[in-house]
Amino acid sequence: MLYQRSSALFADAQNYIPGGVNSPVRAFKSVGGTPIFISKAEGAYIYDEDGRSYVDYINSWGPMIIGHTHPDVLNATVEQMKKGFSFGTPTELETEIAKLITSVVPNIDMVRMVNSGTEACMSAIRLARGYTNRDKIVKFEGCYHGHSDAFLIKAGSGAATFGNPNSPGVTQGTAKDTLLAEYNNLESVKALFEQNNGEIAAIIVEPIAGNMGCVVPQEGFLEGLRTLCTENGALLIFDEVMTGFRQAMGGAQERLNIAADIVTFGKVIGGGFPVGAFAARAEIMNHLAPLGPVYQAGTLSGNPIAMRAGYTTLNIINNDRDLFNRIDATTETLSKEIHTILNEKGIANHINQFGSMMSVFFTEANEINNFEDVATKCNHETFNKFFHHLLTNEVYIAPSGYETWFISDAIKDAEINKTLEAVRSFEL
Ligand SMILES: *Cc1c(COP(=O)(O)O)cnc(C)c1O
Repeated sequence: MLYQRSSALFADAQNYIPGGVNSPVRAFKSVGGTPIFISKAEGAYIYDEDGRSYVDYINSWGPMIIGHTHPDVLNATVEQMKKGFSFGTPTELETEIAKLITSVVPNIDMVRMVNSGTEACMSAIRLARGYTNRDKIVKFEGCYHGHSDAFLIKAGSGAATFGNPNSPGVTQGTAKDTLLAEYNNLESVKALFEQNNGEIAAIIVEPIAGNMGCVVPQEGFLEGLRTLCTENGALLIFDEVMTGFRQAMGGAQERLNIAADIVTFGKVIGGGFPVGAFAARAEIMNHLAPLGPVYQAGTLSGNPIAMRAGYTTLNIINNDRDLFNRIDATTETLSKEIHTILNEKGIANHINQFGSMMSVFFTEANEINNFEDVATKCNHETFNKFFHHLLTNEVYIAPSGYETWFISDAIKDAEINKTLEAVRSFEL
């Protein structure tokens, strides 16, 4: 049996951890089968408890963009650890990472560190509400901004995978302040501004969506959001938890040349440690405690070990001028080749790819532009077969048709070939 020890560990875990996992999508519920338990990782590979290795396209859901256990990050973090684990006081390192982030990300003067992408987005809307003195926010169906109450309204991936987009426990009072629009549909946003004149604090959006699978913004969509926000005195929040330091050093703002008012980060920013951040112009960030009245805090925020891992990772990326070209080219090769191979097999498919994010959709459609398209036009049963086929062939992609692949710089020709070989032997 391929996953003998994983199966035993999963059975044991289920007695002590709800569903055996600490984050739902890890449970393989939508694709079926037993989640594999990982014991270690290095470079492009993760190793399971049964001794098998996999080419890793999850990369901890994005953070491991330079590959696992990069020696420079490892050494810097171990050295930092020797000086203590956490102080709960300011450190010089926090200013250093803030200087680096504000120097490479457009349209921000200051940054506040938190411990997850969820915290970053939750704090960003509080700040937007405090700044504008308005209550309502606009979010898009299929976009995920973490699991705080205000966002658990038609959230993508995790929530979509489990078919309970409106989680129990989110109060009506909270839900009524979250207005839903359709991704890539500017008219749906305009209508909300007309119906809620003067009440909308912010639009929050994944500038390149990854939580309904990879869905790319159509020409004019984000520009239109920018204009609507400016005209209506609302703030534009780019949730760059996934795209930040992945689509460019300055994230989607830089890559697509659109200015956001508040930007949120997570994933890559911590280099594999629990870090999030939100950032904006000084005029907005000045509203945050202790300078201003909008409260936000964290016992472990700016933790020195996490900061050292993040700072070292960001510096490696920033000093490697060709890194984004390389991972983008790898992703382009993968998407084109996989598309061709599936076509040759007569398996209808469409691949969305942007930079180092991509998703393979099994569909007759020529375009996948929003959550509805992913949910109704794609064959998720075929995806599940595809997933298990790849896994059996030691290629590990996210266990849901509502997720993106995350390509790391450790993926080279050998890994690409192994992946394409696995796709070649896929049969419906
Ligand atoms: C992952 C993600 C989050 C949530 O981050 P966590 O660290 O899991 O809390 C928020 N927004 C986007 C776009 C994400 O991809």
